[in-house]
Amino acid sequence: TSRERLLVVANRLPVSAVRRGVDSWHLEISVGGLVSALLGVKEFETRWIGWAGVNVPDEIGQRALIKALAEKRCIPVFLDEEIVHQYYNGYCNNILWPLFHYLGLPQEDRLATTRSFQSQFDAYKKANQMFAEVVKEHYVEGDVVWCHDYHLMFLPKCLKERNRKMKVGWFLHTPFPSSEIHRTLPSRSELLRSVLAADLVGFHTYDYARHFVSACTRILGLEGTPEGVEDQGRLTRVAAFPIGIDSDRFIRALELPQVQDHMKELKERFAGRKVMLGVDRLDMIKGIPQKILAFENFLEENPNWRDKVVLLQIAVPTRTDVPEYQKLTSQVHEIVGRINGRFGTLTAVPIHHLDRSLDFHALCALYAVTDVALVTSLRDGMNLVSYEFVACQASKKGVLILSEFAGAAQSLGAGAILVNPWNVTEVASSIGYALNMPADEREKRHHHNFVHVTTHTSQEWAATFVSELNDTIVEAQLRT
Ligand code: UDP
Repeated sequence: TSRERLLVVANRLPVSAVRRGVDSWHLEISVGGLVSALLGVKEFETRWIGWAGVNVPDEIGQRALIKALAEKRCIPVFLDEEIVHQYYNGYCNNILWPLFHYLGLPQEDRLATTRSFQSQFDAYKKANQMFAEVVKEHYVEGDVVWCHDYHLMFLPKCLKERNRKMKVGWFLHTPFPSSEIHRTLPSRSELLRSVLAADLVGFHTYDYARHFVSACTRILGLEGTPEGVEDQGRLTRVAAFPIGIDSDRFIRALELPQVQDHMKELKERFAGRKVMLGVDRLDMIKGIPQKILAFENFLEENPNWRDKVVLLQIAVPTRTDVPEYQKLTSQVHEIVGRINGRFGTLTAVPIHHLDRSLDFHALCALYAVTDVALVTSLRDGMNLVSYEFVACQASKKGVLILSEFAGAAQSLGAGAILVNPWNVTEVASSIGYALNMPADEREKRHHHNFVHVTTHTSQEWAATFVSELNDTIVEAQLRT
C-alpha cells in the first residue's frame, strides 16, 4: 500500500552539501528539530524540498547533486548568489527577522534598507516562485504540502495559483509580532494575503496566532473568527501548534558511556561550584549581554557566591559576515572580559564563554550537570534549549530561569522562574533564588516541566499539524 506523501518545503534542506569534484558531492545530514519531528509522522512518506546552502552554477554539478540528494529524499531548489544575497541575507534576515522579533533596524542601516526594500522584496517573491516551481514539478495529486517559516510567506499563494486543489499548510517558527509592528512593513498586505492562500496557518503560541488574525482584520479589513480568517466565505484556518523536542533522544543519550564519562569530567572540573548554563546562537534576540550583566549584578550583590558559582555560556556563531553580529560578538567579549577581570582569581574565572558549537553528546552532558539554566531571550519563537535542558535533568532536577518573551514561557511557565530579561536586577535576584532553592521546590518545578516536555514532543507536534490540515480540507469540502 502506498502511503500519502508529505512534501516539506523549507528554505534549507536538512543536509549540508560539500562539492568533492565536478560531479561528486559529500552530504551531511543535520538532525535539527524539524528532522526529528517529521520522523514522527509515520503514516506519511516524507520528501524535503529546499535550498542546499551552496551555489551550483553548472548543470553537471546540479544534476549530480539532484541525484545524491534523491537518496536522502531531498529535492534541491537552486538559488544563485545574487538572489541569495537579496532574498535570504536581505529580505529574510535583515528585514523580516528583526521585525518579527521586535528589534528595530540599526540606525545606520535604516536609509539603506529603505532604499533597497523593493528590490529585496522582488527577489523574495522571485525566490518563492522558484520554490513553487520545484514543488509543482514533484507534486502528485493528493500530496500534502507543508511550507515552513518566514522565508516562504509568499509560497502558499504561488502554490495555489499553480494548483487550487493542492493541500497547503504554512507554519511560522518565529514570533508573529503585534499588528502595530507588522503594519510598518511596506509589503504588509501582500505578505498577509499570500499566507492566507494556505488552508491551515500555524504558530507556536496562541498570542502569535492572535497577532496574525489582528493583522488580517486591521490591515486587510477581513473578518477574524475563532477558527481563523474569513475572506468572502473562504476560511483560512489559523491555530497554535507549540513545537516540542524528541525528548527520548536526549534521555537515551545520557545513558551512553561517552556521555557519562563526559559528565564525570565536568563534575570534577567544577567540583564545589554550582554550574549555570546558557546555550544560544549568538543572536541579538537571545539577550546574551543582558544575561551576563545580570550575572555580574548577582556577583556584585552576593560576594559569598563569587567562588561558588560558574556561568558556562555556549554562544554558537551565526551570520558572522553581518556587521551587526560582529559588533554583538565583540560587545559580549568585552563584558565577559571585564567581569572575569573583576571577579576572577589566579585559578578560576566566573564566566566561561565559548564562541563555538558543541556536538550533541557534549551538549547533553552539559545540560545534565547544570544546576541552573538561564534563557534570557528578548524575543524567541519557542526556544528549544529550555526544553532540552528539562529533558536532561531527570536526576539533577535543576532550575530553569526563562524569559517571559520566549514562546516556551507559555508552556514551561509553571515550572520555570519567569523573568523580564531587560530587568537586570530582577534576573539577578532570580539567580539567587534559583541557586538557593530547596530540593522539594526544585523537584516540584522540574516534574511539572518534565511531564510537559516528554508528552508534548516534536513528533506529536508534526502529526497534529498534518492531521489538522487534512481535517481542515475535508471540512472546507463539506461546506461548499
Ligand atoms: N545547538 C546545537 N549545538 C550547540 C548549541 C545548540 O546543535 O552547540 C542546538 C540546540 O540543541 C537546539 C538549537 O541548537 O536544538 C537551538 O534551538 P532554539 O530553539 O533554542 O534557538 P534557535 O537557534 O532556533 O533560535
